[in-house]
Amino acid sequence: MLTIDAQRFMARHESLTKWGATGKGGVNRPALSADETGARRELLDWARKRDFVCCVDPIGNLFVRRQGSSANALPIRMGSHLDSQMPGGNYDGVYGVLAAFEVLETLEDNAFAVDAPLELVIWNNEEGCRFPPTTMGSAVHGGSLSLDRALSAVDREGINVGQALERSLPALGSLTPVDLGSPCSGYIEAHIEQGPVLEALGLSVGVVSGIQGIAQFVFEVEGEEAHAGTTPRDKRKDALREAINLVEELASAIEHDDDVRFTVGKFEVAPGAINTIPAKVVFTLDLRHPNSEELARLIQVVLAMCSSPRRICGVLCRQVLNSPPVQFDAAVTAVIADSCAKAGIETMTLPSGATHDAKHMAELCPSGMIFIPCRDGISHSDREHASAPDMIQGANILLASIIRLAELKSVGASDQKHERV
Ligand SMILES: [Zn+2]
Repeated sequence: MLTIDAQRFMARHESLTKWGATGKGGVNRPALSADETGARRELLDWARKRDFVCCVDPIGNLFVRRQGSSANALPIRMGSHLDSQMPGGNYDGVYGVLAAFEVLETLEDNAFAVDAPLELVIWNNEEGCRFPPTTMGSAVHGGSLSLDRALSAVDREGINVGQALERSLPALGSLTPVDLGSPCSGYIEAHIEQGPVLEALGLSVGVVSGIQGIAQFVFEVEGEEAHAGTTPRDKRKDALREAINLVEELASAIEHDDDVRFTVGKFEVAPGAINTIPAKVVFTLDLRHPNSEELARLIQVVLAMCSSPRRICGVLCRQVLNSPPVQFDAAVTAVIADSCAKAGIETMTLPSGATHDAKHMAELCPSGMIFIPCRDGISHSDREHASAPDMIQGANILLASIIRLAELKSVGASDQKHERV
């Protein structure tokens, strides 16, 4: 069985940790920053040394292509992202990019002929922390977000994605332009789990069944600014008290099963003086559930609760994201599970709690994901860590799965019954 060059793979991983290193074990590498551009450039330099073709689409997704032996075969893709949270860890995203690149290099080392071109995709702005929304590059590529809207998203300094791309792309060297949504026949993304399940069970690889749905809301609670000492209780319109009550009521109405994920991650109080009744509170809600009907019902609960006549303050609620759950392709997940079985690796099937670029690829082609465990389930942190044996194991499963997908596509080319793998 073909296996990756584990030493090279780990050395490449070590090399990319310098881009945006925090000094505490993590990285601060937001999308299109100088550090992320540096990491992208280093990877493209490795790719050019292997004579892989390097391409870019209009939203800044990069494609590293190993040509196939058939002129007509559609590409099979793998990938993830090199941007991080601010700060984030050295595994989220970069692991999947390097595992995919290692697959291309291993096949090249062994002169392993595959009909289909194989492509590593480095998605632009997966994290969405500098430029919202999250998974921007893959959403534009997949067609669920317009290019114009994405290019006009601004960061805290007022720089938009279009301007940031103009600064970043020239530093990447010569790239062949490709269209958005270019066809492909399959996609697999390797990623750290970002949860505790695999580690708790002592498993080194998981097969991902799908991605839970997300609804995100921004609430604006409007009260009335007044003196903290002189305003009697019945005259107070305290936006903070109203917001706290609302969060409590939402949580008790919504958090009724173990699959619900309810997070108020941002809470801003104005004017923010010790002796003034708060006049305005803005807070966010991130709500997730793997079942689409249940998520739709919970969204209605949120909206109904905000318009309740019992409120003393005005409450404006805007839903800013509606991302239904995604089920990955049964044949692709079977290929991954089969690759584990053939390698004698015990595995399990689990849903993803975090969103990923694979969600948008699932709209375009049969897609799936491979998870490896991360320590204590922690991600988006300097403390994020995955072990070398797990990283290597996951990359080997990606290699075996991609080879199997490519074989199935070759069968499919001569047998129309197998058009979809
Ligand atoms: Zn990620």
